[in-house]
Amino acid sequence: MTDIGSIVAEIAAEMAQATDRGRVADYIAPLAGVDPAHFGLAVVTADGACHVAGDADMPFSIQSVSKVFTLTLALGRVGDRIWDRVGREPSGTSFNSIVQLESEQGVPRNPFINAGAIVVSDMILAGHQPREAIGEILRFVRGLAGDEAIYIDEAVARAEQETGFRNAALANYMRAFDNLNNPVDLTLGVYFHHCAIAMSCRQLALAGRYLMARGVNPETGKRVISPERARRINALMLTCGHYDGSGEFAFRVGLPGKSGVGGGILAIAPGHASIAVWSPGINTSGNSQLGMVALERLAQRTGWSVFDPVSI
Ligand code: GLU
Repeated sequence: MTDIGSIVAEIAAEMAQATDRGRVADYIAPLAGVDPAHFGLAVVTADGACHVAGDADMPFSIQSVSKVFTLTLALGRVGDRIWDRVGREPSGTSFNSIVQLESEQGVPRNPFINAGAIVVSDMILAGHQPREAIGEILRFVRGLAGDEAIYIDEAVARAEQETGFRNAALANYMRAFDNLNNPVDLTLGVYFHHCAIAMSCRQLALAGRYLMARGVNPETGKRVISPERARRINALMLTCGHYDGSGEFAFRVGLPGKSGVGGGILAIAPGHASIAVWSPGINTSGNSQLGMVALERLAQRTGWSVFDPVSI
């Protein structure tokens, strides 16, 4: 039997030696000060074991990884009507691209690019005050991870609010196409706050368990989402979870994954494991440089791949 614990420790030791670590995102001021030497890895397997190495218990800004959780919440709330307002195709462009929105009439390509996630935030906000919507998202994530210590880093949320001109442009543009229902600043407030959730690799891997377990939180036995929707979220993570680097991630890692500019990635080996990795330096596509290398090695050494019928 594969010894996951040793593989996790081995990969963390290898990553500690790496010199090409990417560059820390600096367009969100508090992220610019994060030390690129950090590396954390957590693997929660189907039997409930949690294997961790490196800085796996240090909270970091999960940023766009949060879009997986808001999509799950919105699907539970509005169901398939979500797809009237957001597409399901890889964008082939950067995470905050504006050009595509014009030709596609304000309907974002998928829920994981910024424009798509802003529409999803707008759906969660419907009928609520921003404070309530943000509270609901945080409660949801805490419940998934089984950890009440998970918090929103207000300094990160504020920094994004102060400098998120591009996201404001995307939101205003979509509002012009009637694809946002709430005032732009309120919807953006929800979006920035869920991006500013801080979690450790351990917490993130625990929160992702329902995606390896056909929509059920294996700890509580509670259904989070239907098996079909869990499958579809995984499909979107595989095809759209790494922006313009999604094809490369599928090619090298072969698992559904969602990255964030904070350097975190949540990856799912359906039936086997929920995996979180964090290394703050990102590549030109906005994805964790070493996070991808670490996941590639993990997939190779465990044999986990959605493209291999023997392993999955
Ligand atoms: N909050 C970030 C932004 O809107 C999310 C980007 C990301 O993590 O990829 O720019």
